[in-house]
Amino acid sequence: MGAGHPEQPDRLRAIERSLEHERFQSLARVQAPAAARDVLLRVHPESYVRRIESAQPREGLTALDPDTLMCPHTLEAAMHAVGGAVAAVDEVMSGAADTAFVAVRPPGHHAGPSTPMGFCFFNNIAAAARHALAAHGAERVAIVDFDVHHGNGTQDIFWSDAQVLFCSTHQAPYYPGTGATSETGEHDTIVNAPLWAGSTGDDFLEALKTRILPRVRNFAPDLLLISAGFDAHRDDPLGGLRFTERDYSEATKRLMDVADRSAGGRIVSLLEGGYDLDALGRSAAAHVLALMGA
Ligand SMILES: [Zn+2]
Repeated sequence: MGAGHPEQPDRLRAIERSLEHERFQSLARVQAPAAARDVLLRVHPESYVRRIESAQPREGLTALDPDTLMCPHTLEAAMHAVGGAVAAVDEVMSGAADTAFVAVRPPGHHAGPSTPMGFCFFNNIAAAARHALAAHGAERVAIVDFDVHHGNGTQDIFWSDAQVLFCSTHQAPYYPGTGATSETGEHDTIVNAPLWAGSTGDDFLEALKTRILPRVRNFAPDLLLISAGFDAHRDDPLGGLRFTERDYSEATKRLMDVADRSAGGRIVSLLEGGYDLDALGRSAAAHVLALMGA
């Protein structure tokens, strides 16, 4: 997205580096394939997909909003980000893998049905949820989003969808300004647990325990998806929360317990934000290690 932009290629390099450790030797690693167009069209209208396609510059950068820029390779990356999410759902729903972590960029949770926003073009996790429902016979999918920013795009997409429970912890008041507890959706399937600036991992784990996990348990999803942004880490330059990698590990274990009850342990986690490269690498490693059951 241009020099100095926090949503940069080094983010994935930092994660890859931290997953080179021998503890991760048994991980199956798969390249994210490009998404088929019909997978995108379950979330975004065709007119929007065409608008994004035609906005991509042949050279240089085009800004879709002040934070969200396209270069000549953005579309390809965005298609592989959605494709990776959907391929991970295939792996986990078919039983080929128990859990999966999808390390892709650009992120997706700010992208609404027809709105690019906040470094996001296509909503990767929404495509993953709709794919589980449409292609794997899932009846209910739960999404837990612990990025420091509210996943407003995901909330918009599933506002009136009774088959998808969307739960979020996020800093508030903060960008993008949504995510109040009063936003509950048409079928009471939206659960927002905002956290004040300065909140710690203990506050996060408490919100999970009291506000979110009981709702996921009651919903009894066939698949649990995680919008795993690591920008609530205390070292993150964008966020104002104070989580540590240990908190991400603990939260992941608690989410796995809930997934064990109704979803056969099936979890697909997708990278969203996380902009301090060291903290991102360590946090993703802690998250993946927990997902591996280690
Ligand atoms: Zn974020």
